[in-house]
Order: sequence, then structure tokens, then C-alpha cells
Amino acid sequence: MKVALVTGASRGIGLSVAKALKEKGYAVVGTYNSTTPSDEIEYIKCDLADKEQTKALVDEVYSKYKRLDVLVNNAGISHTGLISDVTDESFEKMTAVNFRAVFDLCKYASEIMVRQKSGCVVNISSIWGNEGASCEVLYSALKGGVNTLTKALAKELAPSNIRVNAVAPGVIKTDMLSCYSDEDLKALAEETPLGRLGNPEDVAKAVLFLEDADFVTGQIITVDGGSTL
Ligand code: NDP
Repeated sequence: MKVALVTGASRGIGLSVAKALKEKGYAVVGTYNSTTPSDEIEYIKCDLADKEQTKALVDEVYSKYKRLDVLVNNAGISHTGLISDVTDESFEKMTAVNFRAVFDLCKYASEIMVRQKSGCVVNISSIWGNEGASCEVLYSALKGGVNTLTKALAKELAPSNIRVNAVAPGVIKTDMLSCYSDEDLKALAEETPLGRLGNPEDVAKAVLFLEDADFVTGQIITVDGGSTL
């Protein structure tokens, strides 16, 4: 059975991706950190801000399954505020979760995938990684880093039959939007050409496309209802 590892699968986009991969027949291992997850899939607790826990996560999956076919780097945190409001502590945590853990998991997973001579990595970045967002400067920079990491690693790993792509979501209805009022969300939906906000399932469909698309690598697929057109 093929094995998928999905970070941040306790809720939101990651949960939707994990369920979709399970329906496709994968043995799915999801991670959680602070949210007690349901028992819909197998979970490992991992704080991705902690380098040692991040390494131990891949070791645990590999020692149980002896393979890793799909890695979805989904877990992420956002911070809204002026650049002058970003504390050193917030910088360290955002950078560790949104970039260093993505880098490290790509590194550890690729060691397994190179031996297998097959594998698929999907990183969840953001439209702000392409466009940059006011009051989300650090988040935008880190997601931009994830996009460039995706393209560079796709080139490096293609000879080993490993594909690396990213999905860049727009505004998706999850807990991450809790800082917005209902009025703000209504306005955002009205500004979106497709006339609505995205659902986690909209992102999961793009991940499944990338999982299946054997000749697609190094791509950043935007899933935003046309909002950045
Ligand atoms: P949620 O806030 O709904 O969920 C975040 C997930 O990340 C949770 O499963 C959470 O686990 C996990 N997580 C957070 N911090 C850590 C940590 N330190 N260690 C391990 N896991 C952690 O977010 P979304 O589902 O909305 O976002 C998923 C991804 O999509 C993120 O990378 C985000 O940047 C990206 N994205 C989201 C958009 C949106 O509009 N929602 C738009 C563009 C991109 P737990 O709850 O167990 O702590």
C-alpha cells in the first residue's frame, strides 16, 4: 500500500487533503500539534517548530511502513500586522513552521524517495507567496520561499522520478480566517471572480490532481477563484 504523510491534518485544509488521499487508497499518516484530532486517519503528534520532533516524525513513518510515496507539507501559521509588530519570537516560530519544517521534511522524505526512485511532494504555499501581502510581510516571504524551494527541488529530484509541486490557495474558509469579521469575509467573496470563498476541499482537489499528474513537476497551482487574475 502506498503511504502519504500530511502535516497539519488535524483540521482545515490538511484534514481535507488527508481524507481525500485516504479515499484514494493511501495509508495516510497525519500530524497534529495542539488540536486533538478525530480518529478518521492515523495521527502522530509533532510540533513542527521543533527540529528534533520533525526528524523523528519521518523516522517513525519510515520505521512502520518502510516507504513514503507522498508528502504534503500543509501545516502553517499566519500573523497579520505591520512589519514593526513582528517580534523576534514570532519571527522564529513562523520561520520554523512555515519554512524550516517544509525544508527539513523535503530533505528527509527525499532521502527515502530517492532510494525508492519514486515520490511526490506537494507543498501548500499561498497566493501571497506569489504576490506579497501588506501586513503579512513575513508570511508572504516564507511562502515565496516555499514556492522557490518547490521549483528548485523539482529540478534536483526529477532525475530520481520524484515530482515536487505546490498549491497556492487564495482565501479558504478555515480557522486561519478567524481574524476576519463576517462582513470582511462577505466582501472578500464578492471581490472573488468566482463569487465565493474557497473550501478546504477545493485545495484537496488540486493536491489530488498533482498526485496523479505524472508529467507535472515544479509547478505552483493557484487555487483562488480567480482573485489574483
Ligand atoms: P488552519 O489554521 O485551519 O490549520 C493549521 C494546521 O497547521 C493545523 O492542523 C495545525 O495543527 C497545524 N500547525 C500549526 N502550527 C503547527 C506546529 N507548530 N506544528 C505542527 N502543526 C502545526 O490552517 P489552514 O488549513 O487554513 O492552512 C493550511 C495551510 O494552507 C497553511 O500552510 C496555510 O498557510 C495555507 N493557506 C491557507 C489559506 C487560507 O485562507 N486558509 C490561504 C493560503 C494558504 P494543530 O491544530 O494540531 O496545532
